[in-house]
Amino acid sequence: MINDIQGLSRRNFMRTLGAASFAAASFPALAATQQAPAPATRQRGGMSDMGDMRQLPPDTVIISSNENPLGPAQSALTAICSTAPMGGRYHQEETMKTVMAFNEIFGLKKGYSALFPGSGGPLDLALMSNIGPDKPLVYGDPSYEQGPRAADTMKAPKFPVKLTSTYAHDVKAMLAATPNPGAFYIVNPNNPTGTMTPREDILWLLKNKPKGSVVIVDEAYHHFSNDESVLDQVAADQDLIVLRTFSKIYGMAGLRAGFAVGRPDLLMKFTTVAAPARQLASISITSAAGARASLQDKDLVPLRKKINSDIRAETLEFLTKKGYKIVPGSQGNMFMVDVNRPGREFQAAMLKDGVAIGRTWAAMPNYVRVTVGTKDEMAKFQTAFVKCMDMPAGTVNGAASLYIPELHHVPTELYRG
Ligand code: PLP
Repeated sequence: MINDIQGLSRRNFMRTLGAASFAAASFPALAATQQAPAPATRQRGGMSDMGDMRQLPPDTVIISSNENPLGPAQSALTAICSTAPMGGRYHQEETMKTVMAFNEIFGLKKGYSALFPGSGGPLDLALMSNIGPDKPLVYGDPSYEQGPRAADTMKAPKFPVKLTSTYAHDVKAMLAATPNPGAFYIVNPNNPTGTMTPREDILWLLKNKPKGSVVIVDEAYHHFSNDESVLDQVAADQDLIVLRTFSKIYGMAGLRAGFAVGRPDLLMKFTTVAAPARQLASISITSAAGARASLQDKDLVPLRKKINSDIRAETLEFLTKKGYKIVPGSQGNMFMVDVNRPGREFQAAMLKDGVAIGRTWAAMPNYVRVTVGTKDEMAKFQTAFVKCMDMPAGTVNGAASLYIPELHHVPTELYRG
């Protein structure tokens, strides 16, 4: 991890983790709740947007995992190349410099941010250090599945709360879901819908939530949106953890870099989580340097945000004009569209046509999530989409029928629901 959390050494950190595994196992029994918690989700599959080892035919359009087809910016590549020769040593200097640059940009004090290889690892830690058998998790539905997966791991009761009619997190219903939650998980923009939860709603939740619970805001897709972040609320010492990643607008999904941002006591609490200790590996010198260069590249976010929103708008206009039903209001690099049949069957049909689209969610089984790719990729998507929609439902018999291991590895996205 990091390292800006009060000078904690790696060895001490690992020792603390060992002690914490015992503490985590001794949580008291499940507290009384106002509504029945949701059943456990499947442990395998169904949560990550991280890409898989794919051996798809080489010309397959991959718009399944909310990656950025542009890859790292030139500024990041230059920084990566110039630091690679120093990769023979374990030094932490690049990490420290990147943490300091982040803190400076966002007006954070020392100790309020931590750098990890990606944001998925620290997201688990943020969730798992605040939930447990007597500390439920409240989250939006549909939303990113890492929340409920962490709840399953921690044996925490789960309270999925339906999104509002504008596909925002329903903060009032989230607050009413259970009296003593450990954490509220908000993804903003939301994955899979790309829709926004207004900042005022998150501020309202922070103000009205029970003492002892935390609000975790996952801003993986924030840079694509027009709304203001809640990072300033971390600086204001709220019970809030914000996650940021370099996997999306910065195009560094395979390079792995992400920040957890919170009060030092909330970040230190990460050390009480034993299970995902492997995800605390320190970030590579090249990824830290690439992340810092990306943060300091003033043109990167506005340019890529415009590219994404132009292509998204064009694609959605095409779909709407053709009469297809989309989830309106996406401000992310993804959108959802109604395919009028089980989404998984439609995915399989699209893959046969050379276009790998995203998965479905149980709350919206006839919708599929599509990542915004390049103009060319979206042109191919449009052609395949119309063709597959014109096929009668039931023509392609489920995603699994496409799995021919000797020929290619089908993204596990296809098996997720
Ligand atoms: N949070 C959300 C909402 C995501 O969609 C993803 C990945 O797609 C992540 C977190 C984890 O991303 P990473 O670990 O690459 O930063």
